[in-house]
Amino acid sequence: MGEFDLIRRHFMRAGAAPGVVLGIGDDCALIPPRPGHQLAISSDMLVEGTHFFPDADPMALGHKALAVNLSDLAAMGARPLGFTLAISLPRIDDAWLSSFAGGLFALANLYNCPLVGGDTTRGPLNLCITVFGEVAPQQALRRDAARDGDDLWLSGRTGEARLALERLRGTAWALSVDIDLAACRERLERPTPRLSLGVSLAGLAHAAIDLSDGLAGDLGHVLAASGLGADIELSAMPVAPSLAGLSAERRHLCLFHGGDDYELLFTAAPSAREAVVRAAEDCGTPIHRIGRLTTAKGLRLTGRDGKVSTLDAQGFDHFG
Ligand code: ADP
Ligand code: MG
Repeated sequence: MGEFDLIRRHFMRAGAAPGVVLGIGDDCALIPPRPGHQLAISSDMLVEGTHFFPDADPMALGHKALAVNLSDLAAMGARPLGFTLAISLPRIDDAWLSSFAGGLFALANLYNCPLVGGDTTRGPLNLCITVFGEVAPQQALRRDAARDGDDLWLSGRTGEARLALERLRGTAWALSVDIDLAACRERLERPTPRLSLGVSLAGLAHAAIDLSDGLAGDLGHVLAASGLGADIELSAMPVAPSLAGLSAERRHLCLFHGGDDYELLFTAAPSAREAVVRAAEDCGTPIHRIGRLTTAKGLRLTGRDGKVSTLDAQGFDHFG
């Protein structure tokens, strides 16, 4: 099988995708953006050995490669239009490709986000997806749009993906606790992009970011862009049952510096509280109000004992 057979066999799907004038097969795909909308564009790469183990389940990889990109659209309040896939493969492994495509298209179909093009080369296993979405002007959930006094909201909960990762790495403290490993692995390997929540927050929330590098570090980006600080209440943080048996120190690590959570962290005016709760209920996504934005710079955490400490806003850095 050659490059073009591979593309035809695994990445071309029958049936025109609504909203796509021209998909796979020409030099470019053609998508007409709706009048008055802005394109929202984002790329995320998954590299073997850096983002996933060499023996990772290909179906889960297909899911995750697209999920992390859709998560960026969600964090902008954008609706998906389509995506491209640039893939480099050491060899053609039909069974692997078929599972990978299965995971990829299951999620793509769920969110009506068609594959419209890409590139296929030989090389170390590397997956790069670019997603295209659209959002109405003035409604995009930008990082620099948080305001003093805003509520700080979190979708879902953080920490389980990191716990699964430490377990799979064989880290001693993660091996010695009783956890729901299947549930934690699901969070690590098959994250749910919070797209319906993101889209319904467009125009309602002020700023948003999706959590890929740990809550504290990612919130740090919003605070820096908006020129603000924040207070978080530990007692308001949702804690997964699997984190209950950890020491306070490890639980803190997972909750605030975990990574791979793919939840939305967003800010909205206190006057929008009821509308925010209703929007989240309508899309069936749990949310928690975990803190508040302030003009006082820095990130502070109020513990269960009322003591205030500084939260290190350093996120994961590939070259740090
Ligand atoms: P070009 O030579 O113009 O770069 P290619 O020969 O790389 O085009 O690809 C041929 C067609 O197949 C293009 O429409 C391209 O977008 C599409 N394509 C290539 N690889 C992939 C892939 N992995 N997934 C989806 N479409 C792909
Ligand atoms: Mg090419």
